[in-house]
Amino acid sequence: MPRNASLFERACQTIPGGVNSPVRAFRSVGGVPRFVKRAQGPYIWDAEDHRYIDYVGSWGPAILGHAHPDIVRVVQETAVNGLSFGAPTEGEIEIAEAIAARIPSIEKVRLVSSGTEATMSAIRLARGVTGRPKIVKFEGCYHGHADSLLVKAGSGMLTFGNPTSAGVPPEFIQHTLVLDYNRLEAVEAAFKEFGSEIACIIVEPIAGNMNLVKPVPGFLEGLRRLCTEYGALLIFDEVMTGFRAGPQGVQGLAGVAPDITTLAKVIGGGMPVGAFGGRADIMEHIAPLGPVYQAGTLSGNPVAVAAGLATLRLLSEEGFYDRLSAQTAKLAHGLAERARAAKVPFSADSVGGMFGIYFREGVPTTFEEVSESDVERFKKFFHAMLIRGVYLAPSAFEAGFVSSTHDDAVIQATLDAAEEAFAAL
Ligand code: PMP
Repeated sequence: MPRNASLFERACQTIPGGVNSPVRAFRSVGGVPRFVKRAQGPYIWDAEDHRYIDYVGSWGPAILGHAHPDIVRVVQETAVNGLSFGAPTEGEIEIAEAIAARIPSIEKVRLVSSGTEATMSAIRLARGVTGRPKIVKFEGCYHGHADSLLVKAGSGMLTFGNPTSAGVPPEFIQHTLVLDYNRLEAVEAAFKEFGSEIACIIVEPIAGNMNLVKPVPGFLEGLRRLCTEYGALLIFDEVMTGFRAGPQGVQGLAGVAPDITTLAKVIGGGMPVGAFGGRADIMEHIAPLGPVYQAGTLSGNPVAVAAGLATLRLLSEEGFYDRLSAQTAKLAHGLAERARAAKVPFSADSVGGMFGIYFREGVPTTFEEVSESDVERFKKFFHAMLIRGVYLAPSAFEAGFVSSTHDDAVIQATLDAAEEAFAAL
């Protein structure tokens, strides 16, 4: 049996579904997941030594390419001095300062170990600060797997949603309002009805978990205005977009300042790190200063912090984001061009080092429009690319990620593969 298949079979004996995070299992595209043996720059190699150009990039962190020598070196150097202390370190101050210096809306920041922890804690903080129970989220935005966030819309515009996971009692999500992304009228209506009970809006300011969907002009500004008007807090979940869409995340691009920002992925340089930060007067509600409890045994882990800090420093090099955005746009335009030549209904979009590909005419702006994508076509395309050595996200509803090591030759090789793959559809 080929090695990926035999590893998968073995994995399934002791790991549920053979994977430690569901999308890795290839359930939505079919076939055998590739077990990764090593990675370097824009490439990953599977257990059978097949090389792939990687557009998953560890789901976002690998913005400098895999195993960047500077990051690997600081990880090695830091590890020698001990892996974890449960006591403060100077590195934690340095990364907090680096984040606060780069993102103007963040004055104080607390480190955690994942994006899920960051959003869960940010919501507790918003509820603690406002003394209000309800939260607003948007259909198609993913904020990790905390109970109150695993919700999809119910029927009717203002109904509270239904759990998207077993094990989440309806009582746990009774305070979560699920609204349509990019439909400000619905948010206005929700605030009119429940304004005095709403603690916060949590939003991916550019959505990357229903494929890539950008905010329409006025949407983020409208959320800001409503939160200010009603005394609710605006949380930008920039776990994916932070230091990925641009040097100050989406808030820098849009010129809209949230009250709280959540980060993860890029700020850990491939190691497990998350963070939530915001105005000092808000952040001072957290323990040990304030009544909102939040903690973590491995929070601010020295090795992870060193990797993150080294990453942030490299991202500050002059022109980094201009080059990254140009390469990503080249990929998106190139794919759309190849699809057009093959007469496949298709569109593509990008921002910074993120891109979306959609098997439909026109770039979508709503969850409903994204859902109209031709999933069967995507599956065929995914496998046609995979056998040609290009590893795309194994789902039609995920964003793709480009790194600074995806140079012209790598993009061209991808487009050559795509030309054949589109023709084969
Ligand atoms: N928020 C967003 C926007 C995300 O994209 C993700 C993960 N894809 C999370 C939160 C959860 O992060 P983690 O997987 O690190 O818990």
